[in-house]
Formats: sequence, structure tokens, C-alpha cells
Amino acid sequence: MSHEAGALHGDFASLRPSWLGVPEDVNALVPDLWPANVERAAGTLHIGGLSVEKLAAEFGTPAYVFDEDDFRARCRAWTEAFEGADVFYAAKAFCSKAVLRAAAEEGLSVDVCTAGEIAVALAAGLDPARLGLHGNNKSLAELHQAVEIGIGRIVVDSLQEIERLDTIAGELGRRPMVMVRVNVGVEAHTHEYIATAHEDQKFGFSLADGDAYEAARRVAHADNLELLGLHSHIGSQIFDTAAFEVSAARVARLHAQLQTDLDITLAELDLGGGFGMAYTTQDDPQPPAVIAAALRRIVDRECAAASIDVPRLSIEPGRSIVGPSTFTLYEVGTVKPVTLSAGASRLYVSVDGGISDNIRTALYDATYSATLASRSSTATPALARVVGKHCESGDIVVKDEFLPADIAPGDLIAVPGTGAYCRSMGSNYNHVPRPPVVAVRNGEARVILARETVEDLLRLDLG
Ligand SMILES: *Cc1c(COP(=O)(O)O)cnc(C)c1O
Repeated sequence: MSHEAGALHGDFASLRPSWLGVPEDVNALVPDLWPANVERAAGTLHIGGLSVEKLAAEFGTPAYVFDEDDFRARCRAWTEAFEGADVFYAAKAFCSKAVLRAAAEEGLSVDVCTAGEIAVALAAGLDPARLGLHGNNKSLAELHQAVEIGIGRIVVDSLQEIERLDTIAGELGRRPMVMVRVNVGVEAHTHEYIATAHEDQKFGFSLADGDAYEAARRVAHADNLELLGLHSHIGSQIFDTAAFEVSAARVARLHAQLQTDLDITLAELDLGGGFGMAYTTQDDPQPPAVIAAALRRIVDRECAAASIDVPRLSIEPGRSIVGPSTFTLYEVGTVKPVTLSAGASRLYVSVDGGISDNIRTALYDATYSATLASRSSTATPALARVVGKHCESGDIVVKDEFLPADIAPGDLIAVPGTGAYCRSMGSNYNHVPRPPVVAVRNGEARVILARETVEDLLRLDLG
């Protein structure tokens, strides 16, 4: 049933994006957008049987609420789909000791890209041999540490870095495993990709220019480096398997060519991460098994064509594992209808967080959804915008969503899909301390990352 916009709900047509339908039931949860153990019971949102009111009372708002079983299930979905391959959880999406440990317990390896992320992985007790180190400008100290602790693979990104790493490895008397990051010329955006000869960005060695070939040759001939294979990562929040297929074909072809030309064996091939997740009803991610089948088919085909063995594959999902596992719980502070044209108004709902706990809407024009979490409502849906408390008009959490027209101060709002690149990109803008991460497992909640305090911030301010 579709409502005639206008009579019932005001003139939304000119304001709402075309993908956002007027909900028949404004209390209904879109299943694909929520962690597995979230449901609405007696009107209130619950996770693992715990009501959001209870969580808010105990831990305060805003808070990231993390469904640990959902996270673990997504880890397993990727390892099962990629059986015989290695799944690296990209720690930058969300990095804490508990989460890295959970990923490791589920059989995943972990990608890190700074000394800070290495420190968390080590503090979590992870085996350095199960870590991969990335980055286009790793410091000498980071490279030194990586070699010293025996990180499983270091993905090199420049000729200077190959030299530095070779020197460091020589000094330490070690022979680290190295992958060469290839820029395959596949520019992937959400919902579309462009395959070009050159991609204009900072990461990797150009395949088209022969730079990647030369880098791999240098690593293969370096005194103290072991060339494990090639690496390609084409971007993030990508839905089009064709983009992954084209990049996999290109990097697999280079892999085959290097083996033949240099008469070496490259044991592994890393196809990166970037697999999309659902933030709103617009997004329709492919299941891991579909992605795995597509990538295997391409690599098998290229290796068969070159008559070489198929290398061991690895992938590096971050967002698609941790993103859907978390929602952010906010309390509404003010509600303000803003009339934009005759009959068309938008309800600005201000919450107690914003750009400091979720910069993605402002930074990437990302879309999110939201629901009234502390109760259900029989009010008509109103076109709303969930905004934060910061001194920026761009401080928007959810740009377009229908919320019950009676939403009021004191209500709790939940925004799903905030597990990736929200806490990890969080800031202290306006001296707002960052929210805690509360993990729920087996019906029990525990804080895995504490709420920052103003005292934490003042401690760094030396006056
Ligand atoms: C960011 C990144 C990933 C993870 O990307 P997601 O979109 O979170 O899956 C994987 N590999 C590399 C090299 C990255 O930089």
C-alpha cells in the first residue's frame, strides 16, 4: 500500500530522496540493517534480550552498542566462504582489543596500518605472524617494529619503502614476507566502477605503467626480502562484483606474468577488501559465498591460462564484518520542524552526539537510517533529519529518514550500521568526549571501550 503523499503526511515528494519510501509501519525494523540479535519487543528495541532503556540507563548515551555474536557470525561467514584462503579483518574499520581477539578466535588474521593498531593487536595477544601491515607511508620505526616482531606480511607501497625495508631486514638479520600493492586502475565507487589505465590516487604501484612489475622484481631480487605475492585493494563500500572481477583478473595476470618471466613462485595473492554493506534499503550487498565464487573463478581462469598453480588467496574485509554489528544509541534533546516551502517541512531531531561519533555522513555523504528505539508510536511518519550537537550545519547523522511525528525530547533513537569507521574515525570536536562501545553477548552487556571523559581531554591540555 502506498500513501498519496500530501494529504496524509505533508508534501514530502520534493524533499525526500527517491529511494526513501514512506514506511507503512514507522516502527518496523528493516531486517538487513540491524544486527542479528536486535528486535522490537513491547515497543522497545532490545539487543540480546536487553532493552535500550536499560542500556542507556547503565552506560549513558550516546553509546555504540555492539552485537558480538553478530560480529562473530559475519567473521565465520567470510572464513567459510573463503575456505582454504585467509581472511584478514581490516582493523582500521574498528580496532579494540576485544574485537581483534574475537576476530582471531573466529580464525581471522588481522590487517593493521600503524604502530597504534599494531599496539592494540599485540595487547590483545594476537600472534604477529597473523598480522598484515599496510600503509603508503609507514615510518622507519613502524617498519623496524614489524620486522622485529615478525609480522606475517608487509605490503610495500613505494620504491623507497622497498629499500628501507631491505636495509632494516638486513640489519636485523631477518627476511620478512613482502607483498607488493598493485594499483590495478579500477576506480570503484558505490554502485559503479570505472576500469582505467591509471587511477589517480596515492596507493600502490601502477600496473599499467609497469611500476608494479618493477617493484615486484626488485623485491624478488632484494637481499633480505621474500616476495610473497601481489596485493590489490580497490576501494570501499563496493557492491558491483564486476569491479572486483576486473581487478582480480588484472592482478592475477600480473601474478602469472611475474612467475613466468622471473621463474619464481608467488605463493599468495591478496585481493583486498571493500565489500559493501547495507546502510539503507538502497544497499544490496552480495553474500560472501557469491563474492568468493566469483573471485575464485577469475583467479582459476587466469592461472589455468598461464599454466601455473593457483596461489593461496587472501581477502581483507573490514566494514562488511563489523559495520552491521553495531548501532549507535542517542537521546533526543530537541525537535524542531523547519518549513521549507508551502506544505513541506522537515523535522530536525537533535541528538546528544553527531559528527564526533559519526563523521561519515559529512565526509562521504553517507546514508544511514534511524528508528525511535525507546517506544513504538502510532503517530504518522514525518520526514526527519537526525542532527548532532556540534557547531556545524553539516553536523548531520542521518540525512533523510521517516520518524514518528510525535518524537520528543527524552526519546532514544538508534542508528544501525555504525560499527565501521565511526568510532575509529571519531573525534573530540567541540571537546565532546567519545562514546563507549558496549558489547552484548549471551544477554550480557560489557564495556569494551570506555567512554572518554572531559578529564581525559584536560589531561592533555598543559596550559
Ligand atoms: C581499508 C582497507 C581494507 C578494508 O576495507 P573495507 O571497506 O572496510 O572492507 C582492506 N584492505 C586495505 C588495504 C584497506 O586499506
